[in-house]
Amino acid sequence: MSDPGLERAVRRAGFAALLAGRYLLPGELAAAAGVSEDAAASVVGALVAAGRATTAPDGRLDGIAGVTGRPTRHAVERPAAPPAELGAAPPGGRPAAPPGGRPDGSGVSLARISTWCGFDAVAIPAALGWSATAVTTCGYCGAELRVPLEDGVPDGDAWGWLPPGGCEHVLRDFCATADLFCDRAHLDLWRAGAADPAGEPRPVVELAELGRSAWEDCLPPARPDPCRGGQATGLSPRIPGNGRERRWAGGGGGNGLA
Ligand SMILES: [Zn+2]
Ligand SMILES: [Zn+2]
Repeated sequence: MSDPGLERAVRRAGFAALLAGRYLLPGELAAAAGVSEDAAASVVGALVAAGRATTAPDGRLDGIAGVTGRPTRHAVERPAAPPAELGAAPPGGRPAAPPGGRPDGSGVSLARISTWCGFDAVAIPAALGWSATAVTTCGYCGAELRVPLEDGVPDGDAWGWLPPGGCEHVLRDFCATADLFCDRAHLDLWRAGAADPAGEPRPVVELAELGRSAWEDCLPPARPDPCRGGQATGLSPRIPGNGRERRWAGGGGGNGLA
């Protein structure tokens, strides 16, 4: 990508919209990113070619940075945000109802955000500092697997498989096998049965750490960016407490995982 600043603006705007259940048309994405429509189209085209974004037949962005409007077996569940947090849908945008939002037995409405892979289901709420649940199925036994996160920190015995980064096509080469497993034993059984593929086993706490750096470029800037007039993204990531402060303003972004 020739212009990392441009890519960052488009990823950030597209990611915020998809988290809110909005699938932006090219012109809407360009406006949200504060870039020209030609520039946005060029960035999206390059991201799609690299398996780092998807678009619907009508041109709407329906997947970026691990979040997708298409059904998968991986998701992030969290209490549905009140409308004020999600922000209003732009003119021509789809309604801002969270994808898959539903009342559960206790009457608490849950938002379900589909992700490309199990790694994304842990890494995204970790990067956002959310209290949420990563929901997926074990890559070995197929059982439903729920990993709770508190302020972005995951808990439990689950392990994840991290395929090699820096691949040609993220969706095909990385996300397709970046599964979570019930525990290290199930990961090792899958690995043996898969003829020991390239990659590394990582506990979910380490996946969360990786997510915080890999998604840094998608997060709102720490301060209003004078160059972009302080756009409102509608996101309000919480900085984890307990002294684990982190900086949002950051550079490079995109380490090939998302
Ligand atoms: Zn299992
Ligand atoms: Zn993924």
